[in-house]
Amino acid sequence: MDIKNEAVILLKKYFGYDSFREGQETLISSILDGKDTFGIMPTGAGKSICYQLPGIMMEGITLVITPLISLMKDQVAALKEAGIRGAYFNSSLTPGQYRKALALAKQGTYKIVYVAPERLMNREFLDFAQSVKIAMVTVDEAHCVSQWGQDFRPSYLKILEFVEHLSQRPIISAFTATATKQVREDVVRILRLEEPTVLTTGFDRKNLFFSVQKPGNKYSVLKNYLDTHPGKSGIIYCLTRKLVEEVCQRLAAEGAAVTRYHAGLSDEERRQNQDDFIYDVKPIMVATNAFGMGIDKSNVNFVIHYNMPKNIESYYQEAGRAGRDGERADCILLYGGKDVITNQFFIEKDNENEEIDEEERALIRERDRMRLKKMTFYCHTNDCLRGYILSYFGEKAPGYCGNCGNCLTQFEEQDVTRTARRLIGCVDSCGQRYGLNVIIDAVHGNNTEKIRRYFLDENDYYGLESDKSVHYLRQVADHLLLNDYLVQTDDRYSVLRLGPKAGSILAREETVTMKVAKDREPAQKQAKSKKIDYDVKNPELFQALRELRMKFARTQSVPPYVVFTDKSLKEMCAVMPENKEQMLQVSGVGESKYKKYGEAFLEVIRAYR
Ligand code: ADP
Ligand code: ZN
Repeated sequence: MDIKNEAVILLKKYFGYDSFREGQETLISSILDGKDTFGIMPTGAGKSICYQLPGIMMEGITLVITPLISLMKDQVAALKEAGIRGAYFNSSLTPGQYRKALALAKQGTYKIVYVAPERLMNREFLDFAQSVKIAMVTVDEAHCVSQWGQDFRPSYLKILEFVEHLSQRPIISAFTATATKQVREDVVRILRLEEPTVLTTGFDRKNLFFSVQKPGNKYSVLKNYLDTHPGKSGIIYCLTRKLVEEVCQRLAAEGAAVTRYHAGLSDEERRQNQDDFIYDVKPIMVATNAFGMGIDKSNVNFVIHYNMPKNIESYYQEAGRAGRDGERADCILLYGGKDVITNQFFIEKDNENEEIDEEERALIRERDRMRLKKMTFYCHTNDCLRGYILSYFGEKAPGYCGNCGNCLTQFEEQDVTRTARRLIGCVDSCGQRYGLNVIIDAVHGNNTEKIRRYFLDENDYYGLESDKSVHYLRQVADHLLLNDYLVQTDDRYSVLRLGPKAGSILAREETVTMKVAKDREPAQKQAKSKKIDYDVKNPELFQALRELRMKFARTQSVPPYVVFTDKSLKEMCAVMPENKEQMLQVSGVGESKYKKYGEAFLEVIRAYR
C-alpha cells in the first residue's frame, strides 16, 4: 500500500482524525522518506502527530527530546489512550522506576520514548540508546538550542553529541512554535540537520481575539470580564508570585472557582492546583509564567495577562494556550506602566542560568531589552495587533484583521504637540532627575508628597495641563517614549531623560501627532465579542457526556480532554451517532478510544434521544 495512504488510515485508527491539518502531511511524508525535517508551527497546530505518527510506522524507536516534564506525562498518557506504547525519562521518576522503564525500553516495549535533554548523556540512558535501533530523534521546543531564542537551554547543545554516540545516525526532526529567522538558522546549524525539509505554517491563530487595555483599575476590569463570561475556563497571568496570591485571594473571596500556581508553592500543591484546573474543578487559574508549559487543556476560553510579559515570544506562547479546540477565545493584555519597570528589573537581575558566562549574559541582556521594547510597542500600537505579532515573527499580514481590539476601535489622528512640549519641557527644567509618575503629576498639577518635597509646585510647568486627564497625559508620555522623544533609564528607579528627538520639540520645529481612540468603551467591545461564541447543540446531552467523561477520567487518572476533547463531545451532541460506524466518524474518536468508551457514550446518547 502507498505509505501516505497508510498514514491517513493510521491517523484515523489511532487518533480518530479524518484528515491532516495544514503542514502535517508534508512533514510526515518527509520523515517517512527518511529526511531530516524541521516544522515551525504555532502552538495548538498539531505538531505532536507529525512525529508520533511516523514514529509508529517506522521500524525502531522514536526518541522525543523535550524540556517540558509535565508534558511528557500527559503525552504518554494520551498515547496510551490511543493504543500506542510510550514511556518517559525525567527527574520525576524514582531511581527504581527509571531503571525498570529503561529495562523495558531495552526490550523494545515502547515505540515512542520521551526524554529530558539533561538525561541524554547519562550512562545508563546512553547504554540503552546504543543497544536498540533508534529510528528518529525528535527535538521538540527546538528553539531552546539557540541563544537568540527566548528560552536558551545549554543542555540542548548536547543533543548533537548524543546523536554522534549512536551507532547509526537516525533521522532528526525538530519542532518549535516560535522561531525568528535567526533561531531557525541556529536550529539547522546547531543540530546539523542534513538537507532538511523546512516548513513553516502560518502563525496566525484566527480564532483568537487579541486586545490590549490600559485600565486605571486592572482588578475591576478583570472582575467584570469574569462576571460577563460565567462558566468559562481561563488563565490569568501575573508577573510576580505576590500578585498571583493577591489576585487569587480576592477572586476567591468573591466566590470565583479559582486556583493558583507559582514556583513558591510545594510540588504537591502545584500538582493539586494544576489538576483542579485541568479537570475543571476550578476552571480559573491565576499563575506566573511558571504555569502552562505542556498544558494542553483544549477548552481554555481566555488568557488574560494581568501584566505585560517580557517579550512577544512569551506572550504569543502564553496567549496561545487559549482556544486549542479551535473555538473562539479571548487574549487580553492589561497594560500598566509599572509592568515595563518590573520587567526591566527582572532582566537586570537575571543570573539564573549558571552555565552562561558574564560576556554571554551581557549579550543576552541586551537582546532581552530589545525584546521588551518590542513588547511595549505592542501595547501602545494603534495598528492591528494580530498584524503586529505576525510581522514580529517575520510573517506578512494584512493591515486589518477585523478580530482584534484595535481593528474594532476607531481612532483619530490628534495633534498633541502642546502637551508633548510641556511634558518634555518639565523633564528638562527639573534636570532629568525624576520618573514618569512625578512628571505627570507635576504637569497635571497634583499636590502629592513628592511634588512638595521636590518643590515641583514651583516649577514653570506645574499644573499647565490640569485640564487634561492623567490617563491622557500618560498616553502622550508613552507615545513620546516609544518615539525617542523621551527615554527611560534601565535601572530600578527608572528616570526620564531627554531623547534624541526632544530638541526639535523644545525648539518648536516639529509637531507631534498620535492616534487616539475615539470611543474606548471596553464593555461594549466585549458584548460584541461575546456574540460570536459558538453554541452547543443539545446542551443537556453535552452536560451528560461531560459527566461520563469525568467518570472515565477519574478512574483512569487522565485529564478529561485525554478521554475526548470538548470538540468531540460537541460534535456528538450535534450529530448524535447511533452506532459504532457513526461514532467513528466523530472527529477525535479512533479505534482504541472507541473500544474503551464508545459504547458507554452511545448509551448516554441513546438514553437522551
Ligand atoms: P502543538 O504541539 O502544535 O501545540 P498538539 O500536537 O498538542 O499541538 O495538537 C493540538 C490539538 O490538535 C490536539 O488536541 C490534537 O489532538 C489536535 N489535532 C492534531 N492534529 C489534528 C488533525 N489532523 N485533526 C484534528 N485535530 C488534530
Ligand atoms: Zn486586527
